[in-house]
Amino acid sequence: MQHHRVQAHPSASVVRGTVRWSPGKSLWFTGMGLIAVVGGAATFSWTAVAVFLIATGTVLLLGHSLGSHRKMIHDSFGCPRWLERTLVWLGVQVGLAGPIGLLRQHELRDFAQRLPHCHPYLRHGSGFWTDAWWQLHCELELDAPPDIAVEARIADDPFYRWLERTWRWQQLPLAVLLLAIGGWSFVVWGVCARITAGVFGHWLIGYFAHNHGPMHHVVDGAAVQGHNIRWTSLLTMGESWHNNHHAFPGSARLGIGPGEWDPGWWALVALQKCGLAWNLRTPDQLLPRVELRALDAVGARTGDDQGAVPTWRELWAWSDVRRVPEPLVLRGPSVTVPARAFAWLLGGGGNFTRDRAAQRLSGCLGGFRMSGLPALWLATARRSPLHRYAALAWLPAATGLESLRRFASVPR
Ligand SMILES: [Zn+2]
Ligand SMILES: [Zn+2]
Repeated sequence: MQHHRVQAHPSASVVRGTVRWSPGKSLWFTGMGLIAVVGGAATFSWTAVAVFLIATGTVLLLGHSLGSHRKMIHDSFGCPRWLERTLVWLGVQVGLAGPIGLLRQHELRDFAQRLPHCHPYLRHGSGFWTDAWWQLHCELELDAPPDIAVEARIADDPFYRWLERTWRWQQLPLAVLLLAIGGWSFVVWGVCARITAGVFGHWLIGYFAHNHGPMHHVVDGAAVQGHNIRWTSLLTMGESWHNNHHAFPGSARLGIGPGEWDPGWWALVALQKCGLAWNLRTPDQLLPRVELRALDAVGARTGDDQGAVPTWRELWAWSDVRRVPEPLVLRGPSVTVPARAFAWLLGGGGNFTRDRAAQRLSGCLGGFRMSGLPALWLATARRSPLHRYAALAWLPAATGLESLRRFASVPR
């Protein structure tokens, strides 16, 4: 079992336990929330909102997603020790817990969710409002918890131990800096509102990702399944592809199908290109799991490429788009454009069909397979001569953007 950290002795149980109010957790969240709402309204400015957005995006992407989750907890890629520590420090800035505490919570939850039965606290299984109260204000005390052995590399690391003891105080350096730069407004928005949004969002996504949403895979015999939440993929830096994560916990890549945006993975591939990350693990490199069952085409061909790269000849042939009746397949982020918007862009023409299972749009439009934006613009070229000129003008930009996306999303 991949859970090398959890050791379940015979009398251990992840079912029997009591949920108790946790004063530290509850007051921390409530206090930050009150300051964020009252202070945020009193000190509102668009600059402060920009500080909030930048700070929140940074700690979620580099800290929580890359540092805490994909690196420290799952060790799904390699990087220099100094970078790992920096990313984990940024992860502590989210305000959920210290690094070792967070890791222990994650291990217990992950272990319990894969068993046939576990306490509803551990599987977000007791309804929306109860779950909000439990996860944001309470802790679960199991009667006979399994042992969690955190490896010495993390548990004995002096820096991580120091972060564990002082994780709430780690907000202080940034708070002082923000106070010096922009006054109390920056502190309220850059620290208190950021923590409130991070902690609340973490619970909200956790609730939905274990209760609602599409799935590519089922883990047989598990107490709860993960679900993918498409519309929060950018907000969560790719963490909301939670069904994929349940299927491939050791993968550094969370968005595995075409059009599954995963900013955390893009950042990792960018780091890899700079020589700062290596051995990025993808689903096809993991050991097969007998309990894993694919539900659709994406699940069945996990790790497949994101569509063919257009060649220059294909691009040159754009003007022939009306003459060759072969299927044109749109992949990549363009599949996330709603079908109705496509119909409008194409002037009602174009036999586009949406294959929901494979998450791609296809239709009889051109003599070549193209992916993403270039395909979209070629498709719109059918509408009128004006559209064809517009498409020609847009094509270099669309091809450039598509190349950039492929550069960031496909490891070489
Ligand atoms: Zn989960
Ligand atoms: Zn995980």
